[in-house]
Parts: sequence; C-alpha cells; structure tokens
Amino acid sequence: MCICVDCHWINRCQAYHAVERQHGVPHLNPRPTFQPERPKVHVQIRELPDGAVGLEWDVRACDSFAPDPGHWRRLRPNEALPA
Ligand code: SF4
Repeated sequence: MCICVDCHWINRCQAYHAVERQHGVPHLNPRPTFQPERPKVHVQIRELPDGAVGLEWDVRACDSFAPDPGHWRRLRPNEALPA
C-alpha cells in the first residue's frame, strides 16, 4: 500500500503525481508544486489475469510524510482506494 493515501501532501505532491501517472489513474492535481524529500518508490512486477505483466508503483517511505489518515479517501469519497 502506498503511504501517500494517508499523507497531508498527497494533492500537492510531485512524487505522488508520478505514481498516479504510472498507474494510469486521474490526477488529484494536474500541476502539483510540492517536492517531497527522499520518497522511496517500490516497484513490483505483477502477473495480470490475462497472462500479461504489469508494474505496481508505491511510495513506501518518505522524509516528507505528514500523517493525515484518510486524506485520499476524503478527496475521492466515491472511488475505490488505489491498490
Ligand atoms: S508520503 Fe511523500 S511522496 Fe507521498 S504524498 Fe506524502 S510527501 Fe508526497
């Protein structure tokens, strides 16, 4: 799970913007301005049901992480939490 979903900066963060792009999901903010300190992105290769291979990108650690539990969910209340 990406720690960004519970971070204060998620809708202003350039690193999370890159994660959204890799996942092919809509951006929370088209032009984020916040540059996080040392985000560590975990990339996992996943097998898809049709035999294809996909990549999953998650931020697992970040020096700028500022706890704000449920921030993503409050911004997108009717959508499923990103996996
Ligand atoms: S944890 Fe780091 S990379 Fe993720 S939204 Fe917060 S500041 Fe950005």
